[in-house]
Amino acid sequence: MSSTEIVWFRRDLRVRDHPALHGAASDADRVVPVFVVDPAIVEGSAASGPRAHFLAGCLRELDAALRDRGGRLIVRRGDPADVLVALAEEVGAEAVRWTSDASPYARRRDERVTKALEDAGVRAVPCPGQYVADPSEPRTGGGKPYVVFSPFGRAWDHLDRRKVLDAPRELSVPQVGGDGLPAPDDLGADGRPDVPEPFAEPGEEPGLRAARAWLDGPIQEYHELHDALAGKDGSTRAAGGGSGLSAHLRWGTISPRWLEARARKLSGEGPAAFVRQLAWRDFYAHVYLFHPEDRHRAHQPKYRDLTWEVDDEALEAWKAGRTGYPLVDAGMRQLASTGWMHNRARMIVGSFLTKDLHIDWTAGERHFYALLLDGEPTQNDGNWQWVTSIGVDPKPYFQRMFNPTRQMSRFDSDGRYVRRWVPELADVPDARIQEPWKMSREEQDAAGCVIGEDYPEPIVDHKVERERAAARYREAGD
Ligand SMILES: Cc1cc2nc3c(=O)[nH]c(=O)nc-3n(C[C@H](O)[C@H](O)[C@H](O)COP(=O)(O)OP(=O)(O)OC[C@H]3O[C@@H](n4cnc5c(N)ncnc54)[C@H](O)[C@@H]3O)c2cc1C
Repeated sequence: MSSTEIVWFRRDLRVRDHPALHGAASDADRVVPVFVVDPAIVEGSAASGPRAHFLAGCLRELDAALRDRGGRLIVRRGDPADVLVALAEEVGAEAVRWTSDASPYARRRDERVTKALEDAGVRAVPCPGQYVADPSEPRTGGGKPYVVFSPFGRAWDHLDRRKVLDAPRELSVPQVGGDGLPAPDDLGADGRPDVPEPFAEPGEEPGLRAARAWLDGPIQEYHELHDALAGKDGSTRAAGGGSGLSAHLRWGTISPRWLEARARKLSGEGPAAFVRQLAWRDFYAHVYLFHPEDRHRAHQPKYRDLTWEVDDEALEAWKAGRTGYPLVDAGMRQLASTGWMHNRARMIVGSFLTKDLHIDWTAGERHFYALLLDGEPTQNDGNWQWVTSIGVDPKPYFQRMFNPTRQMSRFDSDGRYVRRWVPELADVPDARIQEPWKMSREEQDAAGCVIGEDYPEPIVDHKVERERAAARYREAGD
């Protein structure tokens, strides 16, 4: 008798190095690849216009890759537990395989799905593939999960790695109905437009192209340039000195394990620094696997009572990139225009929101989550807590209190990044670009940028706010 297995795709939208798909294609005669549009996600707080557009593109590409192999993507809508049990019955599947995930919602859902399948006599088979290594594995000498990155990174380096797998050559998919490929509005866009210049092209082939272009050259300078907002002199790379691969890692259109294996084959400090950055991604998965209650709650108890200010006008100025601080504004406008922001800029705008404007970090986390193509609960929450100095991998708050002017002189000294995203400042001379409010009236006229008219005055004074933030943190427990 022929055997049938279902492969439930979620955010692992590729056919190469996909343990669940590879396993089902090797072990079963027929494979049913399915994507379930889960109303709890697309109608809930995770809905995002830019990500819905990106996801729709990834599903189109995945369907095309499956068709190239004789299959296709079945799309159903509903609670995954109900949909998968019904589908398993309809096609006579013995097993459902998927790529396991670390986010608190995904884990709760997967437990429910596992129970529903097992009650129906269907095997539930979670597989690796979302991370480089198994995020549940590394433990301290005392057997505890890690909350500090450096020792985690050392232990992670020595964890077993699974073999990188080829895509199945051929798939046999039975006749089964579905809803047709979803449009962005079916995936939570809800009429919200895409960002004007999406940072990444959706799908596995574009992901592979971007990864190969990265591995073939720029990765070699990553250790020196990862913080350079506009990349090296004369470069036009949109990702600056970074890889720009985060959206593909987030959606699984490239495999993190494959990427790590390829980077490790290269020698030099650049590839080594890049692999270390991939460890940060596994680190936050590890953290939220063991501390799901940390989502939207400070990991450090002493900071759970930190006081915040409510200032809607300042929050809106921050979101719109109109704070009067060029680097903060450039980062926020890059996010609004492309659905992506350079890591260094994310740190600076995060520090500005929480330590200059004193606004609750969860407002920033939500805004990022609404717009980022790579927006993902564990990575976003973990990094927001890092920059707010309330999370794991603790350091005193003042070490992560960034001066936006000094940061610009270090990481965008010629102002290329700022001029790209804040065109009002395009003709401001180099000597003034970090503090345009210091231009004389003549300089403002010559630059075509009158402060207070064409570009805002700084909405706060960093020196003053720095002291106020210090007082708040001290009061909370430092
Ligand atoms: C406030 C804030 C919020 C963030 N929210 C997210 C998010 O929702 N999703 C997300 O993927 N990243 C998030 N990051 C981490 C980081 O900014 C992005 O992963 C990085 O900017 C992506 O650009 P890149 O691909 O060029 O990274 P590269 O510098 O090329 O790094 C390679 C890969 O390593 C991983 N990585 C790098 N830095 C980090 C980090 N600090 N934490 C975790 N993984 C990392 C990413 O997968 C990245 O693609 C956030 C950072 C901050 C400060």
